[in-house]
Amino acid sequence: MSLTDSFGRLHDNLRISVTDRCNIRCFYCMPEHDVEFVPRAEILSFEEIERFVRIAVRLGVRKLRLTGGEPLLRRDLDVLISKLSAIEGIEDIALTTNGVTLAELAKPLYDAGLRRINIHLDTLDRGRFRQITRRDDFDKVIAGIEACLNLGYEPVKINAVAVKGLVEPDIVPLARYGRERGVEIRYIEFMPLDAQNLWDRGRVLLQADMVRMLEDGIGPLEEIPDADPRAPASEYRFTDGVGRVGFISSVSRPFCLNCNRIRLTADGKLRYCLFALEETDVKTALRDGSGDEAVEELIRSSVEAKWLGHEINSAKFVAPPRPMYSIGG
Ligand code: SAM
Ligand code: SF4
Repeated sequence: MSLTDSFGRLHDNLRISVTDRCNIRCFYCMPEHDVEFVPRAEILSFEEIERFVRIAVRLGVRKLRLTGGEPLLRRDLDVLISKLSAIEGIEDIALTTNGVTLAELAKPLYDAGLRRINIHLDTLDRGRFRQITRRDDFDKVIAGIEACLNLGYEPVKINAVAVKGLVEPDIVPLARYGRERGVEIRYIEFMPLDAQNLWDRGRVLLQADMVRMLEDGIGPLEEIPDADPRAPASEYRFTDGVGRVGFISSVSRPFCLNCNRIRLTADGKLRYCLFALEETDVKTALRDGSGDEAVEELIRSSVEAKWLGHEINSAKFVAPPRPMYSIGG
């Protein structure tokens, strides 16, 4: 069975947010104060997530990514990873984290079977890290990255959000760090998903500008024709053979036509797009005694309702009511 939408796109990739809480406060995602989190009772339990995944696998889902909020704040995440890895049909599990508590948790997560990890780090400058995250945890994130490299995680990738007028001095040093440490830096164009409506097209540092900075600062890049055409990043390698970088360019190079993702929020809502304005409640069906067929039907109907793509580049664009931390980036 497969999950195909009305435009013929096959969906085999599920992103699961395990919490909307976070231990830092990146300004392009969360407000600084008075964040309203979902009450704990509304957050899906491990059993509910596992059941949902089993049903989704019957419909063709093969790849999972756990995210949040900050997923490492969810107690016993390693237990969830073991349970999900054991589901027949799951071929790949990855995690996206801010890395703050990773130095301690990298080992239990590795032992649970996790190998692929994306760690969020926008800058190697301690002051700018504090300015962006409103916290002083830079050293902890570096320790988390190093812990993953020492344990043998593969691949380790770094997600860096690219906000114009702020991170230009970080683009080249991050890529140099990536070349030295054998990690790929993925620059993510700032998206209109922040909680304080700060986004503006003029604040997006565009892929083309970053490519230019990297070529001027380090050396020529060549685009790699992607192994998986449905992966959202455009990938480049340095022509001296040392290292690669990727760009998630939702603004300058939207990748909707290849989208293969659905997203489950921590409070049990299914979303067919990061930017969707509607969502499907699956939590009620997971809790009211409904059978698996009812949940299956909800997943199918969400995918069938999927739009062709977001409209960031159109005057019609309306930002979704949930900011990034509450969807799961
Ligand atoms: N807390 C984890 C983290 O920061 O990696 C996982 C959740 S976070 C919402 C997932 C990713 O979203 C982050 O890696 C960050 O790079 C990205 N992100 C957050 N807000 C963004 C925004 N407004 N535009 C683009 N990317 C954003
Ligand atoms: Fe937390 Fe990740 Fe959002 Fe930053 S981007 S505030 S680390 S959820």
